[in-house]
Amino acid sequence: LALKKSKGHYLVPYGEYDNIIYENLMNEQLIINNISTSLIHKEFMFYLQPKYDLHRKKIIGAEALIRWYHPQHGHIAPDKFIPSLETNGFILELDKYIWEEVCKTLKKWLSENKPLYPISINVSRIDLYDDTLVEFLQKLLEKYQLPTHLLELEITESAYINDTTQIIEITQKLQNCGFVIIMDDFGSGFSSLNMLKDISVDILKMDLKFLQNKNHPHRSKIIIRSIIQMAEALKLPVIIEGVETQEQADFLRSIGCIWIQGYYYSKPLSIPDYEKLLDTNI
Ligand code: C2E
Ligand code: CA
Ligand code: CA
Ligand code: CA
Repeated sequence: LALKKSKGHYLVPYGEYDNIIYENLMNEQLIINNISTSLIHKEFMFYLQPKYDLHRKKIIGAEALIRWYHPQHGHIAPDKFIPSLETNGFILELDKYIWEEVCKTLKKWLSENKPLYPISINVSRIDLYDDTLVEFLQKLLEKYQLPTHLLELEITESAYINDTTQIIEITQKLQNCGFVIIMDDFGSGFSSLNMLKDISVDILKMDLKFLQNKNHPHRSKIIIRSIIQMAEALKLPVIIEGVETQEQADFLRSIGCIWIQGYYYSKPLSIPDYEKLLDTNI
């Protein structure tokens, strides 16, 4: 399996992650040395974390989250290896592999007449610079004969900060093809509010972790409530992730937040476990 290397713009600095990378057992070189055999040996897989509708008390879909099971090092969390793969551009190869695995799974469910809910995939900001991205995703849906709405795309807010015009252009293209665009990690960056006027996005996804403020818990609530109100005025649906407690869920319900995801409802699940959940849901 050939791994395409460097285009100039793959080399985006990722300073905030440097410490994490070097503190942990997987250093960059080790990852690079391992990645191509890892792909061949299918050490990469994805888990599915359900998304729920609080009002209808129903699953509305799931997010595919990559998992690396390394023969020597065991499970390695995405935060440990994705930043390195983004720096050297290998992330594109890996993401494409995961997206295809997701499509295979959807296709399998389709042929088994299972209830079908969309799966969102994580698109790295590096992937957005690949000229073949749109075509690749379209061909994937064709290959597995899947309707576009089943594959949703999560793009982290920070992707929009550099090179905004290019990113806006590509997300618009993806939207024109019918893909639902979810702005991930909404609120974690600096220019979210200002960017919203220019960007074609279908859903905002906000992580409660960004807002947890032990000293001023009421402030977090005020901020969340204002974001929900603003999104409502902009007619943008919101999904809140990182919901860990009943109290959080009750609060979110009380302010009109309908879609949620988080450990309180479900951790990311293996495909068989997610399938069991789907079966009990109907
Ligand atoms: P993300 O897209 O923001 O995903 C949410 C992360 O929060 C996931 O971590 C998820 O397991 C975790 N999470 C979910 N619910 C809760 C909760 O209630 N509490 C807490 N504390 N955490 C929760 P994970 O799976 O370790 O993934 C980390 C990051 O790695 C993701 O953040 C995403 O940026 C990246 N990632 C994961 N899979 C892929 C992939 O296939 N491709 C790319 N490019 N990036 C991926
Ligand atoms: Ca995500
Ligand atoms: Ca997120
Ligand atoms: Ca994240």
